[in-house]
Amino acid sequence: MSDVAALELRDVHVTYRTREGPVPAVRGVDLSVFAGEVVGVAGESGCGKSTIVSTILRLFPASATVTGEVLLDGENVLTMRWGRMRAVRWGVASVVFQGALHSLNPIQRIGTQLVEPIFLHDKLATDNSAATKVRTLLEQVGLPARHADAYPHQLSGGQKQRVMIALALACDPQVLICDEPTTALDVMVQAQILELLIGIARERSMAMLLISHDLSVLGTSCDRVAVMYAGRIIEHGPARAVFDWPEHPYTRALSSAFPTIGDAASRYAPSGLPGDPPFPGDLPSGCPFHPRCPSALPVCPTVDVKLLPAGPGRTAACVLVDQSVPTR
Ligand code: ADP
Ligand code: MG
Repeated sequence: MSDVAALELRDVHVTYRTREGPVPAVRGVDLSVFAGEVVGVAGESGCGKSTIVSTILRLFPASATVTGEVLLDGENVLTMRWGRMRAVRWGVASVVFQGALHSLNPIQRIGTQLVEPIFLHDKLATDNSAATKVRTLLEQVGLPARHADAYPHQLSGGQKQRVMIALALACDPQVLICDEPTTALDVMVQAQILELLIGIARERSMAMLLISHDLSVLGTSCDRVAVMYAGRIIEHGPARAVFDWPEHPYTRALSSAFPTIGDAASRYAPSGLPGDPPFPGDLPSGCPFHPRCPSALPVCPTVDVKLLPAGPGRTAACVLVDQSVPTR
């Protein structure tokens, strides 16, 4: 394994300027993904997962202020020249977006859409070589090559998502970022698509960042997992260990909320906890989880706990882990 991470976030902060005031959606995130690794990011809606994704290829809106470093193979995306940034998109890293099913062009054949990034990035590509590549890509994602001639409306949701994955792979990136890639699909298809994605990432020794609100999916398919709450990572470690023996009460709630992959009931209360995560523009004092925490102590509204060692290769941000905070 190379000692430079394929993807590394260093103290990344993202604040959106809004009419109602600043919205600090991401508040100091550190995370790395090495080649050959699948790293998961879990957390309820609104915790800042997609905002993190937007920093990786600098796809955030102009209203966002981003600080820190976002490194792709050691190169900072945030300070990259525009021409280099264009080459990096698709070529070094690519994203399968949340709700991407709707981003295929309805009036263009699948093959035409797949060929576009290939020509953009490979100056030596010919009509023939690009068509061969399209066929190979479709087969890799489990679709018959003849689907190149299909229009998006002729495909099912699962087939369209396979096309989105083929698009993301078209320029052989080293880093693949998947933001809730299966949320819109039914349960059986979800499991197939995830298996496909992870299989491809492992086969190609890519670095993969997999975002999901479903910790059970991440716990069983990733190497490591980070759990986000209110714009921060509140627990991180080997995926299986974090899922099976959560240290943070929030992780514990997420872990017990998903008894089975894609459980329909848990979509409505994704954490199994009452209420919603806080709005980042108006965070509770101390630990932002304390108002919902089943294990909250009197000190919790007053201490802002940082990530601390919590077992082999693990960290968690909770007073129950922090020996230095008197809990009585
Ligand atoms: P997640 O992907 O975990 O659901 P997001 O990163 O989408 O979370 O959102 C985190 C927070 O940032 C939310 O409170 C959301 O409302 C806010 N947010 C996201 N995008 C914008 C934006 N363009 N302008 C203002 N606030 C935003
Ligand atoms: Mg999101």
